[in-house]
Amino acid sequence: MRVFLTGGAGYIGSHTLTELLGDGHDVCVYDNFANSRPAALARVRTLSNRDFEVVEGDIRQGDRLAGVMRAFQPDAVIHFAGLKAVGESAAFPLEYYENNVQGSITLLRAMDAAGCRRIVFSSSATVYGEPRQARLDESHPLAPTNPYGRTKRFIEEIIGDWAGANADASAVLLRYFNPAGAHETGRIGEDPRGTPNNLAPFVSQVAAGRRDRLKIFGGDYPTRDGTGERDFVHVIDLARAHIAAIDYAMANRGCEAINVGAGSGVTVLEMVRAFERATGRAIPYDIVDRRPGDVPASVADPARAQALLGWTARFGLDDICRSAWNWQSLNPDGYEGVDPEADGKP
Ligand code: NAD
Ligand code: UDP
Repeated sequence: MRVFLTGGAGYIGSHTLTELLGDGHDVCVYDNFANSRPAALARVRTLSNRDFEVVEGDIRQGDRLAGVMRAFQPDAVIHFAGLKAVGESAAFPLEYYENNVQGSITLLRAMDAAGCRRIVFSSSATVYGEPRQARLDESHPLAPTNPYGRTKRFIEEIIGDWAGANADASAVLLRYFNPAGAHETGRIGEDPRGTPNNLAPFVSQVAAGRRDRLKIFGGDYPTRDGTGERDFVHVIDLARAHIAAIDYAMANRGCEAINVGAGSGVTVLEMVRAFERATGRAIPYDIVDRRPGDVPASVADPARAQALLGWTARFGLDDICRSAWNWQSLNPDGYEGVDPEADGKP
């Protein structure tokens, strides 16, 4: 298949790209490198020993996007491109609506212009907001608590309306829980700019000595040990869910929302202990106030992913921590200083 990846140079995009190439698909990556580096793509080239197209561009540039898409003629689009920092989205909501929502509309228009009617979209469990039940299924009400989450909800609805208006359209909205971990080789992984917002990269950097201590946000949640509970899903499992979603979109019409999570909850303290096992190092931490906007727990009911996509998570928490540590210790500064020319020959 010919697959067009917006945001394909990012954390989840680069891992999905590797799996797609490994499965023999032809890929075009379209990314503005706002939160990623060409070095990640160079690493994917050497890892997979295959080449693919890369176009530096913004999803808000409609004519450019349509031109690239018409030339590539994709069978399907996987739409990762977007801004994803919750705190930043509250400070700069219009940037988020413009980049994520307007960008997605422009993308759908470009797909129409190129005659491509299949899309897999990176949504998030954040669309559910405050959970009303222990494990969230897709029928849980949507009530995101921040502008980032609202962009995901609005895009889901826009894609749903687009699919409803086009009888030949197929859309899969993948609601990711907490992606973490890295490729087993340690050649690609998560490379956040500045201070990581997310737990797993922060803990990795503490283990590596790049940061002194972890702040655990909240020790009085109604969970086993008082710390927040999440559903961590290995990024390679997540990548495989995208491939299953494309296969589904090839065979079905309409629009489906599907959770992508392991289906089991891990508390922040449990995550810290798992990292200590994986690294053999102590992770110093302080328990501090809750982070505004955090929910106590967020765990997937992944039954629909199993039923519709035949997908379940294969990797567990220890695999996640081991692979994250492998990436972190082999690349203490992420892709910083990696020369895409020297490091990217197939
Ligand atoms: P990422 O920032 O590593 O990747 C996003 C990519 O999109 C980057 O390469 C960035 O340069 C690119 N991009 C951003 N705006 C763009 C634009 N206007 N035009 C072209 N490219 C643009 O993030 P990620 O963790 O790989 O996330 C991928 C997608 O999954 C995002 O949409 C994110 O919201 C969603 N998601 C991520 C998580 C998570 O925890 N990582 C959880 C749920 C959903
Ligand atoms: N967390 C934490 N310290 C950090 C980052 C995150 O205690 O430095 C907690 C956070 O409060 C939440 C969990 O880890 O309970 C997962 O947070 P993350 O930002 O990784 O993902 P979210 O579920 O918020 O999207």
